[in-house]
Amino acid sequence: MEAGLDGGWDSVRGLLGGKGANLAEMTRLGIPVPPGFTVTTRACLSYLDGDGRLPDGLWSQVLHALHAIEDRLDKRFGDPAAPLLVSCRSGAKFSMPGMMDTVLNLGLNDETAKGLVALTGDEHFVFDSYRRLIQMFGTVVLGLRDELFENVLSDARHVRGVTSDADLSADELRTVVARFRDLAAGFPTDPAEQLRMAIEAVFSSWNGRRAVDYRNAAGIAHDLGTAVNIQAMVFGNLGEHSATGVCMTRSGATGLPGLEGDFLVNAQGEDVVSGTRATRPIEALAQVMPTAYAELQAMAAKLEARYHEMQDIEFTVEDGRLWLLQTRDGKRTAQAAVRIAVDLANEGLIGRADAVRRVTPSQVDFFLHPQLAVAARQQAADEGRLIATGLNVSPGAAVGVAAFDPDVAQRLAGDGRQVILVRPETKPDDVHGMLAAEGILTTRGGRTSHAALVARQFGKPAVVGVGALEVDLVGHRATMGELVIEEGDWLSLDGSTGEVYAGRLDTFVPDISDGWLATLLGWADDLRTLGVRANADYPADARRARDYGAEGIGLCRTEHMFFQSERLPVMQRMIMSDSVTERRDALAELEPLQRDDFLGLFRAMDGLPVIIRLVDPPLHEFLPTFEELSKRITDAKIRLSAAGSLDEVDDLLGRLRRDEDLLRQVRALHESNPMLGLRGVRLAIRHPEILQMQARAIFAAACDAAEEGGGPRPEVMIPLTSDAGELIRARQVIDSEAAAVFADRGITVDYLVGTMVETPRAALTADKLAEHADFFSVGSNDLTQTTYALSRDDAETSFLIDYLRTGVYDHDPFSSLDPDGVGLLIDRAIAAARTREDDFEVGVCGEHGGDPASIAWCHAHGLTYVSCSPFRVPVARLAAAQAAL
Ligand code: ADP
Ligand code: MG
Ligand code: MG
Repeated sequence: MEAGLDGGWDSVRGLLGGKGANLAEMTRLGIPVPPGFTVTTRACLSYLDGDGRLPDGLWSQVLHALHAIEDRLDKRFGDPAAPLLVSCRSGAKFSMPGMMDTVLNLGLNDETAKGLVALTGDEHFVFDSYRRLIQMFGTVVLGLRDELFENVLSDARHVRGVTSDADLSADELRTVVARFRDLAAGFPTDPAEQLRMAIEAVFSSWNGRRAVDYRNAAGIAHDLGTAVNIQAMVFGNLGEHSATGVCMTRSGATGLPGLEGDFLVNAQGEDVVSGTRATRPIEALAQVMPTAYAELQAMAAKLEARYHEMQDIEFTVEDGRLWLLQTRDGKRTAQAAVRIAVDLANEGLIGRADAVRRVTPSQVDFFLHPQLAVAARQQAADEGRLIATGLNVSPGAAVGVAAFDPDVAQRLAGDGRQVILVRPETKPDDVHGMLAAEGILTTRGGRTSHAALVARQFGKPAVVGVGALEVDLVGHRATMGELVIEEGDWLSLDGSTGEVYAGRLDTFVPDISDGWLATLLGWADDLRTLGVRANADYPADARRARDYGAEGIGLCRTEHMFFQSERLPVMQRMIMSDSVTERRDALAELEPLQRDDFLGLFRAMDGLPVIIRLVDPPLHEFLPTFEELSKRITDAKIRLSAAGSLDEVDDLLGRLRRDEDLLRQVRALHESNPMLGLRGVRLAIRHPEILQMQARAIFAAACDAAEEGGGPRPEVMIPLTSDAGELIRARQVIDSEAAAVFADRGITVDYLVGTMVETPRAALTADKLAEHADFFSVGSNDLTQTTYALSRDDAETSFLIDYLRTGVYDHDPFSSLDPDGVGLLIDRAIAAARTREDDFEVGVCGEHGGDPASIAWCHAHGLTYVSCSPFRVPVARLAAAQAAL
């Protein structure tokens, strides 16, 4: 056709469009395709550039190519004695469904119609084809409204008392044609003119509103142009031995091998997809037209062998003979994508690396969460029940009744209800309610807010930052404009899209038990070099993480253990204690609990590294807030003045005193910038007895695990280090506790002591830190926060949103690692570590550890592993493999 195809298949597609390139390829493979030719996208671009004139020489080339078809088929375009009919089909490089149109049966006019009747003896067929031509030409080329034509047809059906156009008689179709001709006054009777106008219309449709909008939405370039395919017609509407249909070579829903699709006997073109007639499943073709069906199966196999991919095929059977009209890669669900990739590899059509490359991280993610049913979502949207969209921070669907209080959530869940916990934001003392809930909805907070972190940690769907929703905690209700959500009202949310619906939508859970995903991820493991660990605080999370393929724990946040409801009072007593002895008493109560937790982690991760981070947050986080306490105190005073009995007075006074003590402590611990204050290693140095207790618990648990015959691999991690001096001091305490425990137990367990790199200074002085650390773990959430001087808890609901919307930032640095700034700091830490030792362990344990783009960065920059929440582990395994390919 034209030169300039040396860029390979991609440039062939660029020039001929996807449809044209595949038609040419099918022809080359000896697959039965009606003869035709393709007018290139280059011709289209030059037409659009040249103020709507066909480029020089194009028309004579078209006629020349048309003659070649005429000679092959022994028919002539416009000749009543042996009329050739053709289709004119658009086809751009990337499929743009429904955007550009096709005209079938070009070449028909009153004379050729008469000739065709004489030839076929089938007036019904001829006038059915003719009315289709005028209708398509009228709408696509002349720009007439389709209703005009549909009204005529529905009148005709009405008069006749039938539901399908196919049931109209030949005479009735003839009348329809006459009426269509009146409607489409500009319809040219000269076939050559029909063809020329159709080609120009396809060219122009490239710049039509619908096409431009679609390209904008799909991110397709506007300067590609569309090709035009001119192809001899084959007729599926030639009677009972003819049919037209579409099928996939495998199920697009499940990936099950074997043809899946629909067909119609005695029909043409779009009938199957337009839904005007009830189609039949493709299996039925085996009965109706066994030869054509067998051939279709053979062609499907041939196409898969050529394209190494599941195909979506259009076909027509004309008088028992099969013709293929189009093939392209088939669309599929996440589930089908995984199964098809694995099957194709097992069938030897692609390699395992190709299979791994073909599945996207979000397709893997899909497997791990329930989904809102597509139909339910659509219906709810149509009924105006999509009430808000917030940040999609933890994927999956959740359906339940609204609860505005964690205790209520827990109680309702205890009664067997499904609950959505709705809060302005969440705090550590809400965790029991979060765990009881199916999903979490907050009006404040961003991607790394407490709600988001905890939700992801536990695989709870969550939507946060729904600013339009106002939560009234006292009245136990939420409002949004007119809308009022009372406690107990049903809500449905989709943490993958951020959508929140009023009402109870149907959900379904994708089936992963069939093992295709497990196989694929196993191949990914063979291909990747980057390790994948999990952030897990509890043994149950650790076990799940291991099931999902984690190779250890990259971060256990020990403070989460203190937040559990029965431990919090002890923790508070520890914080409130006036003397070191009192503090040690409280700590002594916590120690066996911690030790149990750690033992559980070592058991779950037997033989694999477990990084345990020392308590990190500022102590005030374990206490109620100032506002809460003030309110409690005021309430108690009011109730005191109205108290009826002495017992009640006693009780109220007791509570008042406790709250006033707490308030004093909250005041004492108050810091203007708590995140830059007494936390992390600073806390460990200020209160070494906390550090000692944690170290003892870790090593005692490790000894317990070793005595059971396990292989515990504790790695003790010091948070928020910014100076080697801090590390030296904390390490001394840890090492001496280890020595004491080992001496006491008469065994030793190998352990590492390392530090987080989450302040810029830690990264910049990493060479000094590396002298005293056995490993580094980059806390990328805090490192991003401290590098940008941007509070991760507030930014995403305030200016960061605007920054992203208006393009001040090109991406959210809390979602995807910032390579330019934060990345430089990490590079520095890696370089320092590796100077000290070739295989010095450096991991990333922030939220970035589950983000595919960040994972690719980590792979490229030589990190040892990424650590992410258990539910992201499969995604990280895939992304790490893809980064290595
Ligand atoms: P779309 O890209 O919208 O699917 P197509 O160009 O593929 O548009 O054509 C629309 C319908 O017409 C399809 O069902 C196709 O199979 C059918 N069709 C196109 N060309 C021919 C032809 N030459 N003979 C028979 N059917 C055809
Ligand atoms: Mg098509
Ligand atoms: Mg941190």
